[in-house]
Amino acid sequence: STTYNFCAGPAMIPQAVMQKAQSELLDWNGLGTSVMEISHRSKEFIALTDQAEVDLRELMSIPSNYHLLFMHGGGRGQFSAVVNNFLGDKGKALYLISGSWSKAAAEEAVKLTSDEQIERLNIVENNNCINTVVMPQLSGNNDEYRYLHYCPNETVDGIEIFEDIDCPWPIIADMSSNIMSREIDVSKYGLIYAGAQKNIGPSGLSIVIVRDDMLRLPALPQSSIMDYRLGVKHGSMYNTPPTFAWYLAAEVFTWLKSIGGVNALAQVNLDKAKLLYDFIDSSDFYHNTVAVKNRSVMNVTFYLKDETLNAEFLAEAAEAGLVALKGHRSVGGMRASIYNAMPLEGVVSLVSFMDKFASSER
Ligand code: PLP
Repeated sequence: STTYNFCAGPAMIPQAVMQKAQSELLDWNGLGTSVMEISHRSKEFIALTDQAEVDLRELMSIPSNYHLLFMHGGGRGQFSAVVNNFLGDKGKALYLISGSWSKAAAEEAVKLTSDEQIERLNIVENNNCINTVVMPQLSGNNDEYRYLHYCPNETVDGIEIFEDIDCPWPIIADMSSNIMSREIDVSKYGLIYAGAQKNIGPSGLSIVIVRDDMLRLPALPQSSIMDYRLGVKHGSMYNTPPTFAWYLAAEVFTWLKSIGGVNALAQVNLDKAKLLYDFIDSSDFYHNTVAVKNRSVMNVTFYLKDETLNAEFLAEAAEAGLVALKGHRSVGGMRASIYNAMPLEGVVSLVSFMDKFASSER
C-alpha cells in the first residue's frame, strides 16, 4: 500500500524522480559510474549544472541581472551568509519576525554583529488564539538598512505571507519552504534563498538567487565557501559542491517542467490546501489557529480538540500509511507538510483518515 510522507523536511521527492535516480544510480549517462563518483569539473557534470541553471531560470523567470548559486549549508547556512556578505561592520538590517524561522535568522544575525546593527519587528498579532500577520508601513531613507529580511512561509507555525512587501530597501527572503510552490516576481527581491529539502531535493544544498548590485555591498571577513562573490566567480564550484544533491535538484526541475511548471503546480497546491483546511474548518474535532489570509499552502498545522488523543491519532495514521504528521516540538499538535511532491491523492487520503478517526467510537 502507498505511504504518504507529510514530513516538513527532509520531505518527499517526486516519485518519478526517485525512480529515475534509482534506475541510473550505478551507471549515470552511460559512464559506468554513479553521478556521485565523478568529478564536479567533468564535462558531463558541467552539462548537468548548466541545464539545471537554464531550467531553474525558466521555472522561476529569473531575470538576467540575477546570479544563481548552489551552495552548502542548507537554510541556516544562509542566515549567517547574508549577514557576512552584506552588512560590513557598520550596516544595519531590519528583520521581520513572523514565526520560528525568521526569529532564528534574526538571532543568528545578532550573534554575528553588534546589537545595534539588527532591528527586529514582530509582525504577527495573536487575537483569541488566532495568528494574523499585520504588515506595518515600511518607509524611511533608502540607506537606513542594507536589507530587510523576512520568511514568507513559516514552516513550523504554518503561517504564509502572500502580500508583497513594499519598502525602500532590498528584500531578502527565506523561501526554504515555499520556493516554486507558486509564481513570484523575482525582480522584487535583492536575494532569495532556500534550503533544498522541501521543494528542491535533498538536504544540505541551498539555492541562492542574488541581484547583481547586491554583490557591491561591503562584506565582513568570512569563510570563502560562503562568499557570494567567490561563488559567482567560480560558478558555485569554489570548493567541491554537494554533487549528488545538485543532480537530484536538476531532476526535480526537469520533472517540474514536464508537468507544466510552477503555475500548473500552484493550482494543485491550492487545491490540496483548500481540501484540508475546509475539512478542518468543517469539523469540531480539529482546529487551526492561523487567520485564513495567512494559512500556509505548504505546511498545514492543526490541533485535535482533545489533545489526549494525539498519540493514538499519530499511531493510527501511520498504520494507514500517513506518516510524519506530528507538529514541531515547539508548537505541538499536528502538521501536514504538503509540498510540491505530495500528490492530491495523499491529501484526499489524509482527510478521509481524519474524518474516520473523528467519528470512531472510543
Ligand atoms: N528556513 C526555513 C523556512 C526552514 O523551514 C528551515 C528548515 O526547516 C530552515 C530555514 C533551516 O534549514 P536547514 O535545516 O537546512 O539549515
